[in-house]
Amino acid sequence: MFPDYVWEINTAKKELFLTFDDGPTPEVTPWVLDQLKRFNAKATFFCIGANIEKHPEIFKRIMEEGHSIGNHTQNHIKGWKTKTKAYLENVLEAQKTIADQTSNHINHFRPPYGQIKPKQGKKLMALGYKIVMWDVLSFDWDKGISNEDCLNQVISKSKAGSIVVFHDSVKASNNMTYALPKVLEYYSKQGFLFKAIES
Ligand SMILES: [Zn+2]
Repeated sequence: MFPDYVWEINTAKKELFLTFDDGPTPEVTPWVLDQLKRFNAKATFFCIGANIEKHPEIFKRIMEEGHSIGNHTQNHIKGWKTKTKAYLENVLEAQKTIADQTSNHINHFRPPYGQIKPKQGKKLMALGYKIVMWDVLSFDWDKGISNEDCLNQVISKSKAGSIVVFHDSVKASNNMTYALPKVLEYYSKQGFLFKAIES
């Protein structure tokens, strides 16, 4: 539908691209970082600007440990319900929040809820953003699915180059904390590497 967006990474190598949306979250993100470290795994964190402002020390730790950062708006707004001008302003506000913490060039953007109008996407790409979607959803936030189903969503769908969505949020933590270590172990045993999405 939107071929200009990034849905997976084109690679023949055994590489997976884990992503974590909605942090930094003090109850969850440090735990995620510890798990990634155990497996020498890198990932990409799509952070909410307001959460970066509340937890800059966790944001710094994410970067120090070699993971990539992406913009996930300042206030986690819904693209379909937001006028394009206000949407862009919120993305740019998050960009400013990020720039207050790091001089690294951050050009990845993921729309909250996967909701983005074509016009919003076009304008962001014109500003130099790469819009990163996914090909594998863990459904970790969904209270209607079991821990095991969450794990199976990832294991049954991931392949070389997949972009997998998890959340470092309290809401998703029940499923995510079950599935993540098992995903890391399962694919590590198969010789996969976990990579951050490069800018
Ligand atoms: Zn989100």
